[in-house]
Amino acid sequence: MSLTRCGDCGVPRLISLMHRWRDDGILESRMGAARGVFIERDAFTGTLDGIEEALGVPIDHIVIDAKRRDAKLYVDDIVSGLMGKVARLGPLRRLGYMMMIQQAAAIGLAKARVLEYEPGKKFTGMARPAYHPVLFVGDVCGAFESFERMRARPHYGVVGETLYIELHADESLPGEDRLELERTPEVAARAVYERCASCGVPRRMMELRWALREGKIYDRNTGEWIIYIDVEGLNTILRELERELGETIPGLVADHAFGYYRGLLERSATAGFSDLSFLTARGLGVPEVERPTAEQLAAGVDIRNAFNAPMVAGMVAAVCGGAKPEYGWDIPEPGIVKVKVG
Ligand SMILES: [Zn+2]
Repeated sequence: MSLTRCGDCGVPRLISLMHRWRDDGILESRMGAARGVFIERDAFTGTLDGIEEALGVPIDHIVIDAKRRDAKLYVDDIVSGLMGKVARLGPLRRLGYMMMIQQAAAIGLAKARVLEYEPGKKFTGMARPAYHPVLFVGDVCGAFESFERMRARPHYGVVGETLYIELHADESLPGEDRLELERTPEVAARAVYERCASCGVPRRMMELRWALREGKIYDRNTGEWIIYIDVEGLNTILRELERELGETIPGLVADHAFGYYRGLLERSATAGFSDLSFLTARGLGVPEVERPTAEQLAAGVDIRNAFNAPMVAGMVAAVCGGAKPEYGWDIPEPGIVKVKVG
């Protein structure tokens, strides 16, 4: 019997102990109720790369800054209370970083290592793999800020497949004491899960394979790299990009999600994506019908507690609409995304 994984479903204990799948389809951390989703790494990081390519402007600084703020709140959240106080004591802070490295591997973000550390001054680390170099730099900046209670200036570079990050504390950067998570609106919904009798995690999670030593999670059906990412962080990044770069962003995001999932379906013969039920188990949203008819799609299918409107619209169109559907979405009330296809 393994202490690190559930004996029945094989999902790591770190996942079931730290997260809760609510009956309204919201997946959240047990500590501070930060919402998250399991999603294909390329579905999200490819969106950022696609936006950069389509607009021809560098977006690293916007992405790092938005991710940094989100990651600081995430680390504040999971390293809190008495444990948080202890983990922030000078001599023990290194252990705090080790905990976060373990957490990053469990949620499929990276296999990371501390190379050099001077409390309150400097942090050097490496990651191979990392789910996205720029996003992970933002994550590490946020962790540094949470543990050190001061901001840092990042330097980073990728050599081969290895990301190197060096942070230097910089007291001239303004502090931000009143950061707050902007929560996505929530509505009543009924998510039907078949749960593991031992650990309570939906049995659909058995479709994922946790490669803890690699710092990755794989979808057993498609072979794709899956990450768990904070919803507020993802939405903040996309909102900041829209604010800075204009209103073409949601359309680019939807079309990228559509293209990505369409390609996945064509490659993997729809395993795991034969209907919309994958949305619920992964915390992405609760569809009112899992196998909508053409008439229902034309009238619009409601996805309740959708994590992000354009991404969910692209996913629904890819799974239900064939190779080249007309599709669109609107938000009849906060927390509900109505996707029309056909
Ligand atoms: Zn289990």
